[in-house]
Amino acid sequence: MDAHIKKRMKEIGGEAILFDVPMSQYTTLRVGGNVEALYKARNLGVLKKMMTFLIDEGIPYLVTGRGSNLLVRDEGLKGIAIILDESFAVIESTSLEEPYIVVGAGMPLYELVDFCAKEGLAGVEFLAGIPGTVGGGVAMNAGSWGQEMKGVINEVTILKDRGIVEKRDSLRLNFTYRGLDLNTGQIIINARLNLEFDNPALISKKVVSNMQRRKERFPVDMPSAGSIFKNPKGDYAGRLIDAVGLKGKMIGGAMISSKHANFIVNKGDASSSDILALMDLAKVKVRDVFNIQLLPEIKVVGEA
Ligand SMILES: Cc1cc2nc3c(=O)[nH]c(=O)nc-3n(C[C@H](O)[C@H](O)[C@H](O)COP(=O)(O)OP(=O)(O)OC[C@H]3O[C@@H](n4cnc5c(N)ncnc54)[C@H](O)[C@@H]3O)c2cc1C
Repeated sequence: MDAHIKKRMKEIGGEAILFDVPMSQYTTLRVGGNVEALYKARNLGVLKKMMTFLIDEGIPYLVTGRGSNLLVRDEGLKGIAIILDESFAVIESTSLEEPYIVVGAGMPLYELVDFCAKEGLAGVEFLAGIPGTVGGGVAMNAGSWGQEMKGVINEVTILKDRGIVEKRDSLRLNFTYRGLDLNTGQIIINARLNLEFDNPALISKKVVSNMQRRKERFPVDMPSAGSIFKNPKGDYAGRLIDAVGLKGKMIGGAMISSKHANFIVNKGDASSSDILALMDLAKVKVRDVFNIQLLPEIKVVGEA
């Protein structure tokens, strides 16, 4: 990234632009090389300008939430990572008459879950303990305990094509298993969720119970990116990886969790290459033994 581009970025983004930032600080796996620039977008007007500039200059950008489903390669990331902050991380509207909420894409899911429990809005308890943002949750169609984001989405606002804002209702959103069809470069700005009124104490009880179940099943006390592979039809990636004897297997500072085989944890000094090597090993062994091709659920990004 040359000095002129950096100067223009600073003119548009001001203090919200940082250069040469370690992505290990912005991902829950705590690994990954540096990104050329990082932009913590604070409001829609400036984000639109930045988006237009990036598209005009052909600079690649990646919107990230809390990086809880991301593996950035050790060689780093070209272009700019965009994080939706401040005015993107708030509850935009809700009502006492109708059980709905419009929430900014940058809001952490735990804040959304807390808010809904306090306000007596039921429907997002399944998101308790998923360490992402609303934007990441929508983009990944995050889910657990048999429910997924798709089930509560009424409408999503998307920023596209150099700053055009489009509202897309659920009929025009193509959710898949852990994904949403979006064109490259489109940014989720907010989501409107349809919920139900319920007793706050009952909602909180469900949230606590879901958190407890997570603690029992998943290695939540170590850096990870959640499930590494998608579950193949009719089976579980964790069961298959366990069955080929890889639970507890270490490469460098990364380990296939001994608690849940579909989690790879960072023991402290893992590199992205360690994690990728474990992923390759799991894929090869599961393919050789079961003739099943595991597909990554996490997004692997960066220079190869
Ligand atoms: C301990 C642990 C447990 C987990 N448990 C679960 C679970 O039970 N269920 C589950 O589904 N997931 C789980 N995950 C994975 C992860 O938390 C979810 O996928 C989450 O929704 C990702 O959100 P994020 O904001 O961190 O997104 P990121 O990881 O930052 O990004 C993920 C993808 O979404 C895109 N994206 C992010 N924000 C936007 C936006 N505003 N507009 C357009 N694209 C965007 C990114 O470009 C990227 O492709 C877990 C992760 C961890 C670490």
